[in-house]
Amino acid sequence: MTERRISTLVGIPFDGQSSYLRGAGDATLKIREAMRCDSSNQWTELGVDLGAAGAFDDAGDLAFSEEDAFEVIESGIGKLLAEGRRPISLGGDHSITYPIVKALARGYPELTIFHFDAHPDLYDEFEGNRLSHACPFARIMESGLARRLVQVGIRAMSGHQREQAKRFAVEVVEMRGLPAYQKLKAAGPIYISFDMDVLDPAFAPGVSHREPGGMSVREAIAHLHAIEGDIVGADVVEYNPVRDLGDMTATVAAKIVKEILGKMIRK
Ligand code: MN
Ligand code: MN
Repeated sequence: MTERRISTLVGIPFDGQSSYLRGAGDATLKIREAMRCDSSNQWTELGVDLGAAGAFDDAGDLAFSEEDAFEVIESGIGKLLAEGRRPISLGGDHSITYPIVKALARGYPELTIFHFDAHPDLYDEFEGNRLSHACPFARIMESGLARRLVQVGIRAMSGHQREQAKRFAVEVVEMRGLPAYQKLKAAGPIYISFDMDVLDPAFAPGVSHREPGGMSVREAIAHLHAIEGDIVGADVVEYNPVRDLGDMTATVAAKIVKEILGKMIRK
């Protein structure tokens, strides 16, 4: 499966599983606006011209109700995969990663996930909710949807989640243990899940859960560039425009999307 599969943006404007603040559902328009902004050119740092004809596609936003969101996400991603695409999803809160990975795992049973986040999102349940944005990686691991889960930038690990990480043999590189470059290699298919709050709130204030002591934008990009292997899909989640200052975090999210796209295309 090394034929050219076109990288395709898909917006998932869903924030119905956010535990603290809504708003991430309005991110997709803002990120696309920032990606198109004339303040920057369309070249990635690794030399890919995203402005070239056919460099990537945009499938628009998925449309769903609060009730059928997860089914629509799973079938929408499944459809893109069936068309031979590499989906890069714009969140949305982090709960969307579970239905996305469910769809991916059907075609890629040996998936390795590189998960960038301040939080491990491994709660068995959060405030009685097993589909909360605090739980997606517990659902993914207990369902056997990924062979490896590597978490990078974690700095809000609770006791329960530390047990969960052990239970699922999650490879956790906490923020204080960076860099994690040597962990970011995989022989099989790779999925990248990038929660914007892995970044320090000084760089990315537009998130619901600001956790100080995070990555600089440069550290995050250096880790994305270090990834070696076949990236079959990705998401960038938890950008919350309601919390942003002057669209600064939208610009950062657009930069992260660009660099992930550049890695996916460069392969
Ligand atoms: Mn998260
Ligand atoms: Mn987070």
